[in-house]
Amino acid sequence: MKGITIQGIQFDEKSSYQKGPKLAPPLIREALYSESSNLFAENGVSIKNEGIEDKGDFEIIEYFDIEKITSQHLGAADKIVTLGGDHSITFPIIKAFSNHYPKLDILQIDAHPDLYDILDGDKHSHACPFARIMENSLATRLVQVGIRTLTTHQAEQAEKYHVEIHHMKDFDPSIPFQFENPLYISLDMDGFDPAYAPGVSHHEPGGLTSRQVITLIQNIDAQVVGADIVEYNPQRDFQNMTAFLAAKMMKEILAKMM
Ligand code: MN
Ligand code: MN
Repeated sequence: MKGITIQGIQFDEKSSYQKGPKLAPPLIREALYSESSNLFAENGVSIKNEGIEDKGDFEIIEYFDIEKITSQHLGAADKIVTLGGDHSITFPIIKAFSNHYPKLDILQIDAHPDLYDILDGDKHSHACPFARIMENSLATRLVQVGIRTLTTHQAEQAEKYHVEIHHMKDFDPSIPFQFENPLYISLDMDGFDPAYAPGVSHHEPGGLTSRQVITLIQNIDAQVVGADIVEYNPQRDFQNMTAFLAAKMMKEILAKMM
């Protein structure tokens, strides 16, 4: 059995509205290791474990270096948790994953579907990664939860790529998600209600509670092989509360993978 690698990707060049997510990875770790809490997930498993290796943070200049770094780490480990960075990083990460996992399902938790074909003249904007992933057939299934900003264009994109959207307005937290293929979880912090996660660039009220997302992840019926936690913007946070929520989610996702 190989292990789990943690990598920080410091990159926010593809953010359309505000910069800041580049600063997130070290602050999420700081919250994780804060003396205010411990390293146990809710299932009683500690993430202080020989099977988990933290490779530290990588400052990205060239967008597709994200794919190279992830590929290197996937050679040594078989599972990766990435601390972002804006949501654009998910496309190169999934490109690397697709070489190791030819069949990969994705669960995206987000206020936004991120399915724009292009935004502000950029095909790799943080509003586009799931259009790139689906047009390159890098995911067998894409399931989205928390969506509350669907435009007509993105609704058409969702139909074209057979994206399964669970709209926020219809969300039923009691239904467990099931996946047949190895699963990648992409957690955009703005999927949470801004009351729980104020440290994001795009405040979209009416979102998921911390408890709903934790329970959703704990109840997933699948083999989780990868995850990212993206769009935490420390420049908008209050009292590091979004950093602590990201750290909590990191623990729960790692525990789910172990
Ligand atoms: Mn997103
Ligand atoms: Mn979003």
